[in-house]
Amino acid sequence: MLVLVGPEHWDKLYPIANGNNQSPIDIKTSETKHDESLKPVSVSYNPATAKEIVNVGHSFHVNFEDSDNRSVLKGGPLCESYRLRQFHFHWGTTDDYGSEHLVDGAKYSAELHLVHWNSAKYPSFADAASQADGLAIIGVLVKVGQANPNLQKVLDALQAIKTKNKQAPFTNFDPSVLLPSSPE
Ligand SMILES: [Zn+2]
Repeated sequence: MLVLVGPEHWDKLYPIANGNNQSPIDIKTSETKHDESLKPVSVSYNPATAKEIVNVGHSFHVNFEDSDNRSVLKGGPLCESYRLRQFHFHWGTTDDYGSEHLVDGAKYSAELHLVHWNSAKYPSFADAASQADGLAIIGVLVKVGQANPNLQKVLDALQAIKTKNKQAPFTNFDPSVLLPSSPE
């Protein structure tokens, strides 16, 4: 799923939207239409751009060096390449819910967001974040199941950032290992 700007990010654009009254997008698969003009979405991430992991209070961010185009998202509906800035998760207090988006009414335990910004058009992430075509976010719905070894490095890193504003180095990581094998 490619979400250009999900509701959890609307507060960046419209501060008044920062609350718990947002309706998440419920994707009704019976109403979705395939757009023949769309190209495949492709990611190219350089593990050397991984930088740090930060506890932001409600979640954690893994931040990436974004001063050049070493880690980018292209294709799909995007005309430009978008640079990877960070990834984070949304989750609930139980496994029954936690995802921001639903599919046919079904909630998922968590949702991974990989946040990219339009570096072709804007000078910085901060400038891009307030623009309609500024951000491109890949959302991955997460189910509880067998342990995913690709997530272990992230889980291990959480030990070092147990309280708000703590941060630790997080290097040499390609987040495409967190994507499903079929991104369609
Ligand atoms: Zn998010």
